[in-house]
Amino acid sequence: MNTRDRYAPSPTGLQHIGGIRTALFNYLFARSQGGTFILRLEDTDRTRFDHNFVQNLYDTFAWLGIKWDEGPDVGGTAAPYIQSERTALYKKYAEDLVSRGQGYYCFCSAERIEKVRQEREAAQSGGSHETGYDRHCRDIPAAEAAKRAASGEAHTIRLKIPLGEVTRFQDQLLGEIEWKNDDVNPDPVLLKTDGFPTYHLANIVDDHLMEISHVLRAQEWLSSTPLHVIMYKSFGWPPPQFCHLPMVMGHDGKKLSKRHGATSIDEFRRQGYLPEALINYVAMLGASYEEGKDIYTLGELEERFSLDKLNKAPAIFDYKKLEWYNGQYIRMKSDEELTALCLPYAISAGLFGKAGGANSGSPAEPGSPAEPSTEQRAVFTAAMPLIRERLTFLYEAPEKIAYLFSEPALPAAEEFIPKKADLAQTVALLRLGQTLVQPLAEAANDEQAEIFIKEQAEKNAVKLGDLMMPLRVAITGSRVSPPLFGSLRILGVQCSKERVNKALAYLEQK
Ligand code: GLU
Ligand code: ZN
Repeated sequence: MNTRDRYAPSPTGLQHIGGIRTALFNYLFARSQGGTFILRLEDTDRTRFDHNFVQNLYDTFAWLGIKWDEGPDVGGTAAPYIQSERTALYKKYAEDLVSRGQGYYCFCSAERIEKVRQEREAAQSGGSHETGYDRHCRDIPAAEAAKRAASGEAHTIRLKIPLGEVTRFQDQLLGEIEWKNDDVNPDPVLLKTDGFPTYHLANIVDDHLMEISHVLRAQEWLSSTPLHVIMYKSFGWPPPQFCHLPMVMGHDGKKLSKRHGATSIDEFRRQGYLPEALINYVAMLGASYEEGKDIYTLGELEERFSLDKLNKAPAIFDYKKLEWYNGQYIRMKSDEELTALCLPYAISAGLFGKAGGANSGSPAEPGSPAEPSTEQRAVFTAAMPLIRERLTFLYEAPEKIAYLFSEPALPAAEEFIPKKADLAQTVALLRLGQTLVQPLAEAANDEQAEIFIKEQAEKNAVKLGDLMMPLRVAITGSRVSPPLFGSLRILGVQCSKERVNKALAYLEQK
């Protein structure tokens, strides 16, 4: 049998970590089996539906680079893949259950249902275990019920759960699960008064018609599964294989939520996470691959994924680990790729000045952040090797290399002074540094620059660190900066000399 699985989100919120974990595992499982991954929109809850959430779903997966083989946007043999376009089908199947005596019409008003629910809830304190509906309409003779329904009396369709039986199924991860039918949600509504299906009906009908072989979904759905298995039996359909994925928790062991940090993918994206980092980390949530290997490409995951790599224990979402992944993936980017990724942050941070301003290379509206000129872009790309190892997030790039685009403010004189030195010694060190600017800026690479400056330090009997410190501060405006030699090469001899001269004049006045 072909493996067919699906991601079946309800567009009632933004895509979040839990959702993309489910999607990713289904995607990987289908790929690992040479199967088919399907997207189905479960949009029957019209009160909570919002078109923006559908857009967010498409945007998120386009950004992640995860594609489905069948779905609303790409079509497929089981189309349509949007439940609100399939309502006639659900009604037909619900009616079919009624005619076969596996379902029944319920004519109870919403008020009555609510009253029963409340009474049963109150009775629980007295030891009763009964909840929900009281199966009031279950025994109305079929002919009478059919007549009432045909005459237009408002009704829902409920599942007639066979009582006194036990329902069993094999969860691929959790093993055999059994449930007494009498304890399952009593005769739940399948079709609502307005003719819309409930989640349970639409989900089962679609999984059947779309020939879904495996249902991989979050463990919070586990309690619905006995009901689903009963429904398959009532319809006379073979159920799919079920696999309930471990929950994703925050560090405190509670279900991951906004209290723990970002959860919507939009938010991670805005914060400067790379899709590869997110995919790699999320793929590890609740699964174990090779000991000691953390980095996996999507291709490697597609090959390696299998249900026996899943953990039963909940997965703890570790924001620090995700940050680590992000840094790792940033390091794998070429200068050009990293430029393309960081430039939008640099532009909006105003690194290239304002449009229409003196520093501007772009014809955009005056006052808005400028695009880089050709030279600025080249400088930006040249600066990528300087910061690649120092980035955890893309947005950190502009701040780290701002000194390459505009002269940094001179910091307090103390900043220039190496440990155990005084101002006069610092001035002397910087004067020596000044004579080295040209050869350093013109050195072919870091190694040559380093050999040269070491020689000079030795020749002049000064410590290498003491020689470099004031020079670094003069060039970058800070004691902590990207590498000095690379900075000198990018800024060039003239600009570098000007900065050193200015710093010298400033220190000499002190
Ligand atoms: N529409 C459900 C959800 O939002 C689908 C659950 C399932 O996979 O059966 O998660
Ligand atoms: Zn009823």
